[in-house]
Amino acid sequence: MTTTTAVDVRTFRNFIDGNWVPSRSGRTFENRNPADHDDVLGVFQDSTPDDAADAIAAAARAYESWRLVPAPRRAEVVLSAARLIAERKEEFARDMTREMGKVLEETRGDVQEAIDMTSFMAGEGRRQYGQTVPSELRDKFAMSVRQPLGVCSLITPWNFPMAIPSWKIAPALVCGNTVVLKPATLTPLSAVNFVRVLEEAGVPPGVVNLVTGSADVGMRMCTHEAVKVVSFTGSTAVGRLVNQNAAPSFKKVHLEMGGKNIVVVMEDAQIELAVEGCLWGGFGTTGQRCTAASRVVVHEKVYDAFLDAFTRGAKSLRVGNGLGDGAQVGPLVSEAQLETVMKYVDIGVQEGARLVTGGHRLDQGEFGRGWFHEPTIFADADPRMRIAQEEIFGPVVSVMRCRSLDEAISIANDVPYGLSASIYTRDINVAFRAMRDLYTGIFYVNAPTIGAEVHLPFGGTKATGNGHREAGTAALDVFSEWKSIYVDFSGRLQRAQIDTE
Ligand code: NAD
Repeated sequence: MTTTTAVDVRTFRNFIDGNWVPSRSGRTFENRNPADHDDVLGVFQDSTPDDAADAIAAAARAYESWRLVPAPRRAEVVLSAARLIAERKEEFARDMTREMGKVLEETRGDVQEAIDMTSFMAGEGRRQYGQTVPSELRDKFAMSVRQPLGVCSLITPWNFPMAIPSWKIAPALVCGNTVVLKPATLTPLSAVNFVRVLEEAGVPPGVVNLVTGSADVGMRMCTHEAVKVVSFTGSTAVGRLVNQNAAPSFKKVHLEMGGKNIVVVMEDAQIELAVEGCLWGGFGTTGQRCTAASRVVVHEKVYDAFLDAFTRGAKSLRVGNGLGDGAQVGPLVSEAQLETVMKYVDIGVQEGARLVTGGHRLDQGEFGRGWFHEPTIFADADPRMRIAQEEIFGPVVSVMRCRSLDEAISIANDVPYGLSASIYTRDINVAFRAMRDLYTGIFYVNAPTIGAEVHLPFGGTKATGNGHREAGTAALDVFSEWKSIYVDFSGRLQRAQIDTE
Protein backbone atom coordinates (compact mmCIF):
# COMPACT_ATOMS: atom_id res chain seq x y z
CA MET A 1 0.00 0.00 0.00
CA THR A 2 1.17 3.53 -0.67
CA THR A 3 1.79 6.08 2.00
CA THR A 4 0.75 9.60 1.16
CA THR A 5 2.22 12.90 2.24
CA ALA A 6 -0.43 15.14 0.72
CA VAL A 7 -1.28 17.84 3.24
CA ASP A 8 -4.87 18.63 2.34
CA VAL A 9 -6.09 15.06 2.15
CA ARG A 10 -8.27 13.98 5.05
CA THR A 11 -7.11 11.17 7.29
CA PHE A 12 -9.72 8.72 8.55
CA ARG A 13 -9.24 6.50 11.56
CA ASN A 14 -10.45 3.20 12.90
CA PHE A 15 -13.42 3.19 15.27
CA ILE A 16 -12.67 1.08 18.33
CA ASP A 17 -14.52 1.15 21.65
CA GLY A 18 -16.27 4.39 20.73
CA ASN A 19 -13.09 6.25 19.74
CA TRP A 20 -11.62 7.16 16.35
CA VAL A 21 -8.07 5.89 16.68
CA PRO A 22 -5.03 5.40 14.42
CA SER A 23 -3.69 1.96 13.61
CA ARG A 24 -0.92 0.59 15.78
CA SER A 25 1.04 0.21 12.52
CA GLY A 26 1.34 3.95 11.94
CA ARG A 27 0.75 3.16 8.27
CA THR A 28 -2.00 4.45 6.02
CA PHE A 29 -3.27 3.88 2.50
CA GLU A 30 -4.90 6.14 -0.03
CA ASN A 31 -8.38 5.84 -1.46
CA ARG A 32 -8.50 7.13 -5.05
CA ASN A 33 -11.35 7.72 -7.47
CA PRO A 34 -11.33 4.99 -10.15
CA ALA A 35 -12.71 7.48 -12.69
CA ASP A 36 -9.93 9.97 -11.96
CA HIS A 37 -6.67 8.86 -10.35
CA ASP A 38 -5.81 12.41 -9.36
CA ASP A 39 -8.79 12.57 -7.03
CA VAL A 40 -7.79 11.28 -3.57
CA LEU A 41 -10.78 10.77 -1.28
CA GLY A 42 -8.76 10.31 1.84
CA VAL A 43 -6.13 8.40 3.72
CA PHE A 44 -7.18 5.39 5.78
CA GLN A 45 -5.58 3.20 8.41
CA ASP A 46 -3.54 0.28 7.11
CA SER A 47 -4.36 -1.73 10.20
CA THR A 48 -2.70 -4.79 11.68
CA PRO A 49 -4.07 -7.98 13.20
CA ASP A 50 -3.45 -6.35 16.61
CA ASP A 51 -5.86 -3.55 15.73
CA ALA A 52 -8.40 -6.22 14.87
CA ALA A 53 -7.75 -7.88 18.24
CA ASP A 54 -8.29 -4.54 20.03
CA ALA A 55 -11.60 -4.10 18.25
CA ILE A 56 -12.68 -7.65 19.06
CA ALA A 57 -11.80 -7.16 22.73
CA ALA A 58 -13.87 -3.97 22.82
CA ALA A 59 -16.77 -5.75 21.14
CA ALA A 60 -16.53 -8.63 23.63
CA ARG A 61 -16.71 -6.22 26.58
CA ALA A 62 -19.61 -4.27 25.08
CA TYR A 63 -21.53 -7.47 24.40
CA GLU A 64 -22.08 -8.06 28.11
CA SER A 65 -24.32 -5.01 28.39
CA TRP A 66 -25.67 -4.71 24.82
CA ARG A 67 -27.16 -8.22 24.91
CA LEU A 68 -29.27 -7.12 27.90
CA VAL A 69 -30.70 -4.03 26.22
CA PRO A 70 -34.27 -4.93 25.21
CA ALA A 71 -34.44 -5.72 21.50
CA PRO A 72 -37.01 -2.94 20.76
CA ARG A 73 -34.58 -0.43 22.32
CA ARG A 74 -31.67 -1.78 20.27
CA ALA A 75 -33.86 -1.47 17.20
CA GLU A 76 -34.65 2.18 17.98
CA VAL A 77 -30.95 2.98 17.61
CA VAL A 78 -30.92 1.18 14.25
CA LEU A 79 -34.01 3.11 13.17
CA SER A 80 -32.36 6.42 14.12
CA ALA A 81 -29.45 5.40 11.91
CA ALA A 82 -31.88 4.77 9.04
CA ARG A 83 -33.24 8.31 9.41
CA LEU A 84 -29.76 9.84 9.48
CA ILE A 85 -28.71 7.94 6.36
CA ALA A 86 -31.86 9.16 4.61
CA GLU A 87 -30.97 12.76 5.48
CA ARG A 88 -27.48 12.31 4.00
CA LYS A 89 -28.37 10.09 1.09
CA GLU A 90 -27.06 12.43 -1.61
CA GLU A 91 -23.77 13.13 0.17
CA PHE A 92 -23.14 9.43 0.80
CA ALA A 93 -24.03 8.53 -2.78
CA ARG A 94 -21.58 11.10 -4.15
CA ASP A 95 -18.81 9.84 -1.86
CA MET A 96 -19.55 6.30 -3.05
CA THR A 97 -19.43 7.19 -6.75
CA ARG A 98 -16.07 8.88 -6.20
CA GLU A 99 -14.92 5.92 -4.18
CA MET A 100 -15.85 2.98 -6.41
CA GLY A 101 -17.10 4.44 -9.66
CA LYS A 102 -20.66 3.26 -10.18
CA VAL A 103 -22.96 5.95 -11.52
CA LEU A 104 -24.77 8.25 -9.15
CA GLU A 105 -28.19 6.78 -9.83
CA GLU A 106 -26.85 3.42 -8.68
CA THR A 107 -24.99 4.69 -5.63
CA ARG A 108 -28.22 6.41 -4.56
CA GLY A 109 -29.75 2.95 -4.84
CA ASP A 110 -26.97 1.47 -2.72
CA VAL A 111 -27.56 4.04 0.03
CA GLN A 112 -31.31 3.49 -0.28
CA GLU A 113 -30.73 -0.20 0.28
CA ALA A 114 -28.95 0.64 3.54
CA ILE A 115 -31.94 2.78 4.53
CA ASP A 116 -34.33 -0.02 3.61
CA MET A 117 -32.34 -2.66 5.47
CA THR A 118 -31.90 -0.65 8.66
CA SER A 119 -35.61 0.30 8.60
CA PHE A 120 -36.70 -3.27 7.96
CA MET A 121 -34.46 -4.72 10.66
CA ALA A 122 -35.59 -2.08 13.15
CA GLY A 123 -39.03 -3.71 12.91
CA GLU A 124 -37.50 -7.04 13.88
CA GLY A 125 -36.71 -5.51 17.28
CA ARG A 126 -40.37 -6.09 18.10
CA ARG A 127 -40.68 -9.47 16.40
CA GLN A 128 -37.87 -12.02 16.35
CA TYR A 129 -40.65 -14.54 16.68
CA GLY A 130 -40.04 -17.82 18.40
CA GLN A 131 -42.41 -20.71 18.94
CA THR A 132 -44.65 -21.61 21.84
CA VAL A 133 -45.82 -25.18 21.61
CA PRO A 134 -47.76 -27.54 23.86
CA SER A 135 -45.65 -29.81 26.04
CA GLU A 136 -46.26 -33.53 25.97
CA LEU A 137 -46.34 -33.45 29.77
CA ARG A 138 -48.86 -31.95 32.15
CA ASP A 139 -48.23 -28.56 33.71
CA LYS A 140 -45.26 -27.88 31.55
CA PHE A 141 -44.66 -24.97 29.19
CA ALA A 142 -42.45 -25.12 26.10
CA MET A 143 -41.06 -22.36 23.87
CA SER A 144 -38.11 -21.36 21.74
CA VAL A 145 -36.41 -17.96 21.76
CA ARG A 146 -33.62 -16.40 19.72
CA GLN A 147 -30.44 -15.58 21.59
CA PRO A 148 -27.49 -13.51 20.36
CA LEU A 149 -24.11 -15.15 19.88
CA GLY A 150 -21.58 -12.47 20.81
CA VAL A 151 -18.90 -10.82 18.70
CA CYS A 152 -19.47 -10.94 14.93
CA SER A 153 -16.69 -10.35 12.40
CA LEU A 154 -18.13 -8.72 9.30
CA ILE A 155 -15.94 -8.74 6.18
CA THR A 156 -17.30 -6.96 3.12
CA PRO A 157 -16.45 -6.33 -0.56
CA TRP A 158 -16.33 -3.05 -2.49
CA ASN A 159 -19.20 -3.37 -4.95
CA PHE A 160 -22.01 -2.46 -2.51
CA PRO A 161 -19.99 -0.44 -0.02
CA MET A 162 -22.87 0.69 2.21
CA ALA A 163 -25.64 -1.78 1.39
CA ILE A 164 -23.64 -4.90 2.29
CA PRO A 165 -22.33 -3.60 5.64
CA SER A 166 -25.94 -2.66 6.44
CA TRP A 167 -27.16 -6.19 5.57
CA LYS A 168 -24.84 -7.49 8.26
CA ILE A 169 -24.70 -4.77 10.91
CA ALA A 170 -28.45 -4.12 11.21
CA PRO A 171 -29.54 -7.72 11.94
CA ALA A 172 -26.46 -8.36 14.10
CA LEU A 173 -27.27 -5.39 16.35
CA VAL A 174 -31.01 -5.98 16.56
CA CYS A 175 -30.33 -9.57 17.61
CA GLY A 176 -28.07 -8.31 20.43
CA ASN A 177 -24.58 -9.00 19.06
CA THR A 178 -21.64 -6.64 18.82
CA VAL A 179 -19.61 -6.27 15.64
CA VAL A 180 -16.26 -5.56 14.07
CA LEU A 181 -16.50 -4.44 10.43
CA LYS A 182 -13.63 -4.69 7.97
CA PRO A 183 -14.62 -3.14 4.65
CA ALA A 184 -12.74 -3.72 1.38
CA THR A 185 -9.63 -1.56 1.07
CA LEU A 186 -11.12 0.02 -2.05
CA THR A 187 -14.20 1.36 -0.25
CA PRO A 188 -13.41 2.39 3.33
CA LEU A 189 -15.12 5.81 3.11
CA SER A 190 -18.65 4.45 2.68
CA ALA A 191 -18.04 2.21 5.70
CA VAL A 192 -16.81 5.19 7.73
CA ASN A 193 -19.93 7.14 6.69
CA PHE A 194 -22.14 4.30 7.87
CA VAL A 195 -20.35 3.79 11.17
CA ARG A 196 -20.40 7.52 11.91
CA VAL A 197 -24.15 7.49 11.50
CA LEU A 198 -24.43 4.57 13.91
CA GLU A 199 -22.29 6.45 16.41
CA GLU A 200 -24.50 9.51 16.08
CA ALA A 201 -27.61 7.35 16.38
CA GLY A 202 -26.45 6.34 19.85
CA VAL A 203 -24.78 2.95 19.49
CA PRO A 204 -22.85 2.51 22.76
CA PRO A 205 -19.02 2.32 22.71
CA GLY A 206 -17.68 -1.05 21.59
CA VAL A 207 -20.95 -2.27 20.07
CA VAL A 208 -19.84 -1.32 16.54
CA ASN A 209 -16.15 -1.23 15.64
CA LEU A 210 -14.49 -0.49 12.32
CA VAL A 211 -11.01 -1.55 11.29
CA THR A 212 -9.76 -0.73 7.79
CA GLY A 213 -7.01 -2.73 6.16
CA SER A 214 -6.32 -5.80 4.11
CA ALA A 215 -6.29 -9.60 4.28
CA ASP A 216 -4.25 -10.04 7.48
CA VAL A 217 -6.80 -7.97 9.42
CA GLY A 218 -9.58 -10.15 8.00
CA MET A 219 -7.69 -13.30 8.86
CA ARG A 220 -7.37 -12.34 12.52
CA MET A 221 -11.08 -11.66 12.55
CA CYS A 222 -11.66 -15.24 11.37
CA THR A 223 -9.37 -16.93 13.89
CA HIS A 224 -9.77 -14.88 17.09
CA GLU A 225 -11.18 -17.04 19.86
CA ALA A 226 -13.65 -14.37 21.08
CA VAL A 227 -15.40 -14.17 17.71
CA LYS A 228 -18.56 -16.28 17.44
CA VAL A 229 -19.83 -15.43 13.95
CA VAL A 230 -18.00 -14.58 10.75
CA SER A 231 -20.19 -13.07 8.05
CA PHE A 232 -18.26 -12.71 4.82
CA THR A 233 -19.20 -11.39 1.39
CA GLY A 234 -16.58 -11.56 -1.34
CA SER A 235 -14.92 -13.94 -3.78
CA THR A 236 -15.23 -17.69 -3.55
CA ALA A 237 -11.44 -18.08 -3.25
CA VAL A 238 -11.27 -15.85 -0.17
CA GLY A 239 -14.50 -17.31 1.22
CA ARG A 240 -12.90 -20.75 1.21
CA LEU A 241 -9.97 -19.39 3.27
CA VAL A 242 -12.35 -17.67 5.65
CA ASN A 243 -14.20 -20.94 6.14
CA GLN A 244 -10.99 -22.89 6.74
CA ASN A 245 -9.58 -20.34 9.16
CA ALA A 246 -12.77 -20.13 11.19
CA ALA A 247 -13.39 -23.88 11.34
CA PRO A 248 -10.96 -24.91 14.11
CA SER A 249 -12.77 -22.73 16.65
CA PHE A 250 -16.25 -23.83 15.41
CA LYS A 251 -17.45 -20.36 14.52
CA LYS A 252 -20.69 -19.91 12.72
CA VAL A 253 -19.61 -18.90 9.22
CA HIS A 254 -21.90 -17.17 6.75
CA LEU A 255 -20.49 -16.90 3.22
CA GLU A 256 -21.86 -14.93 0.25
CA MET A 257 -19.54 -15.42 -2.70
CA GLY A 258 -19.21 -15.31 -6.47
CA GLY A 259 -21.75 -15.77 -9.24
CA LYS A 260 -22.09 -16.61 -12.93
CA ASN A 261 -25.68 -15.64 -13.44
CA ILE A 262 -27.77 -16.31 -16.50
CA VAL A 263 -30.69 -14.87 -18.39
CA VAL A 264 -32.69 -17.37 -20.45
CA VAL A 265 -34.51 -15.82 -23.43
CA MET A 266 -37.18 -18.15 -24.80
CA GLU A 267 -38.68 -18.07 -28.29
CA ASP A 268 -41.88 -16.40 -27.06
CA ALA A 269 -40.10 -13.71 -25.03
CA GLN A 270 -40.74 -10.01 -25.52
CA ILE A 271 -37.40 -9.38 -27.16
CA GLU A 272 -37.21 -5.66 -26.42
CA LEU A 273 -37.90 -6.27 -22.76
CA ALA A 274 -35.29 -9.03 -22.64
CA VAL A 275 -32.71 -6.80 -24.32
CA GLU A 276 -33.38 -4.00 -21.86
CA GLY A 277 -33.05 -6.46 -18.98
CA CYS A 278 -29.80 -7.92 -20.31
CA LEU A 279 -28.28 -4.46 -20.79
CA TRP A 280 -29.14 -3.52 -17.22
CA GLY A 281 -28.22 -6.92 -15.78
CA GLY A 282 -25.00 -7.27 -17.76
CA PHE A 283 -23.61 -3.75 -17.74
CA GLY A 284 -25.19 -2.08 -14.68
CA THR A 285 -22.51 -1.42 -12.04
CA THR A 286 -20.09 -2.06 -14.95
CA GLY A 287 -20.87 -5.77 -14.55
CA GLN A 288 -19.43 -5.72 -11.05
CA ARG A 289 -22.41 -7.18 -9.25
CA CYS A 290 -22.41 -10.63 -7.75
CA THR A 291 -25.79 -11.03 -9.48
CA ALA A 292 -24.63 -9.57 -12.83
CA ALA A 293 -26.08 -11.28 -15.91
CA SER A 294 -22.79 -12.35 -17.41
CA ARG A 295 -24.39 -15.15 -19.46
CA VAL A 296 -27.40 -15.06 -21.76
CA VAL A 297 -28.79 -18.16 -23.41
CA VAL A 298 -31.20 -17.50 -26.27
CA HIS A 299 -33.55 -19.81 -28.11
CA GLU A 300 -32.29 -20.35 -31.67
CA LYS A 301 -35.53 -19.04 -33.19
CA VAL A 302 -34.93 -15.54 -31.76
CA TYR A 303 -31.15 -15.65 -31.41
CA ASP A 304 -30.27 -13.35 -34.30
CA ALA A 305 -32.96 -10.81 -33.51
CA PHE A 306 -31.95 -10.73 -29.87
CA LEU A 307 -28.22 -10.50 -30.57
CA ASP A 308 -28.68 -7.71 -33.05
CA ALA A 309 -30.74 -5.59 -30.66
CA PHE A 310 -28.53 -6.43 -27.66
CA THR A 311 -25.39 -5.43 -29.57
CA ARG A 312 -26.95 -2.16 -30.70
CA GLY A 313 -28.01 -1.47 -27.13
CA ALA A 314 -24.52 -2.15 -25.73
CA LYS A 315 -22.96 0.13 -28.33
CA SER A 316 -25.24 2.94 -27.33
CA LEU A 317 -24.44 2.80 -23.60
CA ARG A 318 -22.66 5.93 -22.41
CA VAL A 319 -19.48 5.13 -20.50
CA GLY A 320 -18.10 7.85 -18.25
CA ASN A 321 -17.43 9.30 -14.83
CA GLY A 322 -20.41 8.29 -12.69
CA LEU A 323 -20.70 11.83 -11.33
CA GLY A 324 -21.07 13.27 -14.82
CA ASP A 325 -24.35 13.90 -16.59
CA GLY A 326 -25.69 11.00 -18.53
CA ALA A 327 -23.07 8.33 -17.80
CA GLN A 328 -24.69 4.89 -17.68
CA VAL A 329 -21.58 2.77 -17.15
CA GLY A 330 -18.78 3.90 -14.85
CA PRO A 331 -15.18 2.69 -14.63
CA LEU A 332 -13.95 -0.61 -13.22
CA VAL A 333 -13.16 -0.24 -9.54
CA SER A 334 -9.38 -0.61 -9.90
CA GLU A 335 -6.55 -1.20 -12.30
CA ALA A 336 -6.43 -4.85 -11.20
CA GLN A 337 -10.11 -5.31 -12.03
CA LEU A 338 -9.59 -3.68 -15.43
CA GLU A 339 -6.67 -6.05 -16.09
CA THR A 340 -8.85 -9.02 -15.17
CA VAL A 341 -11.46 -7.88 -17.69
CA MET A 342 -8.86 -7.42 -20.42
CA LYS A 343 -7.40 -10.84 -19.63
CA TYR A 344 -10.83 -12.48 -20.03
CA VAL A 345 -11.45 -10.65 -23.32
CA ASP A 346 -8.20 -12.22 -24.62
CA ILE A 347 -9.29 -15.61 -23.29
CA GLY A 348 -12.67 -15.29 -25.03
CA VAL A 349 -11.02 -14.42 -28.34
CA GLN A 350 -8.58 -17.32 -28.00
CA GLU A 351 -11.39 -19.71 -27.12
CA GLY A 352 -13.09 -18.79 -30.39
CA ALA A 353 -16.12 -16.86 -29.14
CA ARG A 354 -17.25 -14.12 -31.54
CA LEU A 355 -16.53 -10.61 -30.23
CA VAL A 356 -19.46 -8.57 -31.52
CA THR A 357 -18.91 -5.33 -29.67
CA GLY A 358 -16.44 -3.80 -27.23
CA GLY A 359 -13.32 -5.63 -26.19
CA HIS A 360 -11.09 -2.64 -25.49
CA ARG A 361 -9.98 -0.48 -22.69
CA LEU A 362 -11.00 3.17 -23.06
CA ASP A 363 -8.03 5.41 -22.34
CA GLN A 364 -8.26 8.43 -24.59
CA GLY A 365 -8.87 11.94 -23.21
CA GLU A 366 -10.77 11.99 -19.93
CA PHE A 367 -10.85 8.18 -19.90
CA GLY A 368 -7.06 8.13 -19.52
CA ARG A 369 -7.39 9.14 -15.88
CA GLY A 370 -9.50 6.13 -14.96
CA TRP A 371 -10.09 2.41 -15.41
CA PHE A 372 -12.68 2.37 -18.18
CA HIS A 373 -13.60 -0.49 -20.50
CA GLU A 374 -16.10 -0.82 -23.32
CA PRO A 375 -19.27 -2.85 -22.74
CA THR A 376 -18.35 -6.13 -24.40
CA ILE A 377 -20.40 -8.95 -25.89
CA PHE A 378 -19.18 -12.35 -27.02
CA ALA A 379 -21.64 -14.21 -29.25
CA ASP A 380 -21.76 -17.92 -30.13
CA ALA A 381 -20.02 -18.80 -26.86
CA ASP A 382 -19.77 -22.43 -25.92
CA PRO A 383 -21.15 -23.08 -22.43
CA ARG A 384 -17.88 -24.80 -21.45
CA MET A 385 -15.66 -21.85 -22.38
CA ARG A 386 -13.93 -20.12 -19.49
CA ILE A 387 -15.71 -16.85 -20.30
CA ALA A 388 -19.01 -18.72 -19.80
CA GLN A 389 -17.91 -20.54 -16.65
CA GLU A 390 -15.77 -18.16 -14.58
CA GLU A 391 -16.78 -14.99 -12.81
CA ILE A 392 -15.24 -12.04 -14.68
CA PHE A 393 -16.79 -9.21 -12.66
CA GLY A 394 -16.77 -6.67 -15.44
CA PRO A 395 -18.77 -5.49 -18.47
CA VAL A 396 -18.45 -8.72 -20.46
CA VAL A 397 -21.47 -10.83 -21.45
CA SER A 398 -21.35 -14.23 -23.18
CA VAL A 399 -24.31 -15.06 -25.41
CA MET A 400 -25.11 -18.70 -26.13
CA ARG A 401 -27.66 -20.52 -28.27
CA CYS A 402 -30.16 -23.20 -27.17
CA ARG A 403 -32.81 -25.31 -28.91
CA SER A 404 -35.13 -25.99 -25.98
CA LEU A 405 -35.95 -25.15 -22.39
CA ASP A 406 -34.28 -28.39 -21.26
CA GLU A 407 -31.06 -27.40 -22.96
CA ALA A 408 -31.25 -23.88 -21.47
CA ILE A 409 -31.75 -25.31 -17.99
CA SER A 410 -28.84 -27.66 -18.37
CA ILE A 411 -26.56 -24.82 -19.57
CA ALA A 412 -27.80 -22.61 -16.76
CA ASN A 413 -27.04 -25.16 -14.06
CA ASP A 414 -23.70 -26.26 -15.47
CA VAL A 415 -21.53 -23.71 -13.66
CA PRO A 416 -19.86 -23.83 -10.25
CA TYR A 417 -22.04 -21.00 -8.90
CA GLY A 418 -25.73 -20.66 -8.06
CA LEU A 419 -26.66 -17.10 -7.13
CA SER A 420 -29.24 -15.67 -9.54
CA ALA A 421 -30.98 -16.58 -12.80
CA SER A 422 -33.88 -15.31 -14.85
CA ILE A 423 -36.14 -16.26 -17.72
CA TYR A 424 -37.98 -14.19 -20.30
CA THR A 425 -41.08 -16.00 -21.51
CA ARG A 426 -44.83 -15.48 -21.81
CA ASP A 427 -45.56 -19.15 -21.23
CA ILE A 428 -46.56 -19.77 -17.61
CA ASN A 429 -45.68 -23.46 -17.81
CA VAL A 430 -42.19 -22.67 -19.02
CA ALA A 431 -41.76 -20.04 -16.33
CA PHE A 432 -42.76 -22.44 -13.54
CA ARG A 433 -40.52 -25.22 -14.81
CA ALA A 434 -37.57 -22.86 -14.92
CA MET A 435 -38.40 -21.53 -11.45
CA ARG A 436 -38.31 -25.05 -10.11
CA ASP A 437 -35.35 -26.46 -12.03
CA LEU A 438 -32.74 -23.71 -12.03
CA TYR A 439 -30.67 -24.38 -8.93
CA THR A 440 -30.02 -20.85 -7.67
CA GLY A 441 -30.87 -18.86 -4.55
CA ILE A 442 -32.61 -16.08 -6.50
CA PHE A 443 -34.81 -16.31 -9.58
CA TYR A 444 -36.63 -13.74 -11.71
CA VAL A 445 -39.32 -14.03 -14.36
CA ASN A 446 -39.35 -11.36 -17.06
CA ALA A 447 -36.75 -9.32 -15.21
CA PRO A 448 -32.95 -9.40 -15.17
CA THR A 449 -30.83 -11.25 -12.61
CA ILE A 450 -30.30 -8.14 -10.49
CA GLY A 451 -32.73 -6.23 -8.31
CA ALA A 452 -33.09 -7.99 -4.96
CA GLU A 453 -35.29 -6.38 -2.31
CA VAL A 454 -34.21 -6.32 1.33
CA HIS A 455 -37.13 -8.19 2.84
CA LEU A 456 -36.52 -11.47 1.01
CA PRO A 457 -33.62 -13.86 1.61
CA PHE A 458 -30.51 -13.16 -0.46
CA GLY A 459 -27.82 -15.70 -1.29
CA GLY A 460 -26.92 -18.59 -3.49
CA THR A 461 -26.21 -22.27 -3.88
CA LYS A 462 -23.06 -24.28 -4.70
CA ALA A 463 -19.87 -22.16 -4.73
CA THR A 464 -21.89 -19.00 -4.08
CA GLY A 465 -22.87 -19.76 -0.51
CA ASN A 466 -22.78 -22.19 2.37
CA GLY A 467 -26.48 -22.53 3.02
CA HIS A 468 -27.16 -19.34 4.95
CA ARG A 469 -29.09 -16.38 3.59
CA GLU A 470 -28.61 -12.70 4.06
CA ALA A 471 -31.46 -10.13 4.27
CA GLY A 472 -35.11 -10.75 5.10
CA THR A 473 -35.88 -12.55 8.32
CA ALA A 474 -33.42 -15.23 7.13
CA ALA A 475 -30.64 -12.91 8.32
CA LEU A 476 -31.85 -13.44 11.89
CA ASP A 477 -30.81 -17.07 11.56
CA VAL A 478 -27.22 -15.98 10.90
CA PHE A 479 -27.07 -13.58 13.82
CA SER A 480 -28.98 -15.51 16.48
CA GLU A 481 -29.32 -19.06 17.61
CA TRP A 482 -32.24 -20.91 19.04
CA LYS A 483 -32.71 -21.72 22.70
CA SER A 484 -35.51 -24.12 23.63
CA ILE A 485 -36.95 -23.49 27.07
CA TYR A 486 -39.12 -25.85 29.14
CA VAL A 487 -40.85 -24.62 32.29
CA ASP A 488 -42.24 -27.36 34.50
CA PHE A 489 -44.81 -26.03 36.98
CA SER A 490 -46.09 -29.44 38.12
CA GLY A 491 -43.91 -29.57 41.22
CA ARG A 492 -42.71 -33.11 40.46
CA LEU A 493 -40.21 -34.85 38.26
CA GLN A 494 -41.68 -35.55 34.86
CA ARG A 495 -39.65 -37.57 32.38
CA ALA A 496 -40.12 -36.83 28.69
CA GLN A 497 -40.79 -39.90 26.52
CA ILE A 498 -41.09 -42.06 29.65
CA ASP A 499 -43.89 -40.70 31.83
CA THR A 500 -46.68 -40.93 29.30
CA GLU A 501 -49.68 -40.79 31.65
P1 NAD B 1 -12.50 -10.34 -2.06
O1 NAD B 1 -12.83 -11.75 -1.76
O2 NAD B 1 -11.21 -10.05 -2.71
O3 NAD B 1 -12.51 -9.48 -0.71
C1 NAD B 1 -13.64 -9.44 0.16
C2 NAD B 1 -13.18 -8.99 1.53
O4 NAD B 1 -12.36 -10.00 2.11
C3 NAD B 1 -12.35 -7.71 1.54
O5 NAD B 1 -12.70 -6.93 2.66
C4 NAD B 1 -10.94 -8.24 1.67
O6 NAD B 1 -10.03 -7.32 2.22
C5 NAD B 1 -11.15 -9.43 2.61
N1 NAD B 1 -10.11 -10.45 2.59
C6 NAD B 1 -9.21 -10.73 1.61
N2 NAD B 1 -8.45 -11.80 1.96
C7 NAD B 1 -8.90 -12.22 3.17
C8 NAD B 1 -8.54 -13.29 4.05
N3 NAD B 1 -7.58 -14.16 3.72
N4 NAD B 1 -9.22 -13.44 5.20
C9 NAD B 1 -10.23 -12.59 5.51
N5 NAD B 1 -10.61 -11.55 4.74
C10 NAD B 1 -9.96 -11.37 3.57
O7 NAD B 1 -13.74 -9.77 -2.90
P2 NAD B 1 -13.90 -8.35 -3.58
O8 NAD B 1 -12.99 -8.26 -4.75
O9 NAD B 1 -13.87 -7.27 -2.54
O10 NAD B 1 -15.43 -8.43 -4.09
C11 NAD B 1 -15.80 -9.06 -5.26
C12 NAD B 1 -16.35 -10.44 -5.00
O11 NAD B 1 -17.41 -10.37 -4.07
C13 NAD B 1 -16.94 -11.11 -6.23
O12 NAD B 1 -16.54 -12.45 -6.28
C14 NAD B 1 -18.44 -11.02 -5.99
O13 NAD B 1 -19.20 -11.99 -6.64
C15 NAD B 1 -18.50 -11.15 -4.52
N6 NAD B 1 -19.76 -10.63 -4.01
C16 NAD B 1 -20.71 -11.52 -3.59
C17 NAD B 1 -21.93 -11.07 -3.12
C18 NAD B 1 -22.98 -12.04 -2.66
O14 NAD B 1 -23.84 -11.63 -1.92
N7 NAD B 1 -22.93 -13.30 -3.06
C19 NAD B 1 -22.20 -9.69 -3.07
C20 NAD B 1 -21.21 -8.81 -3.51
C21 NAD B 1 -19.99 -9.29 -3.96
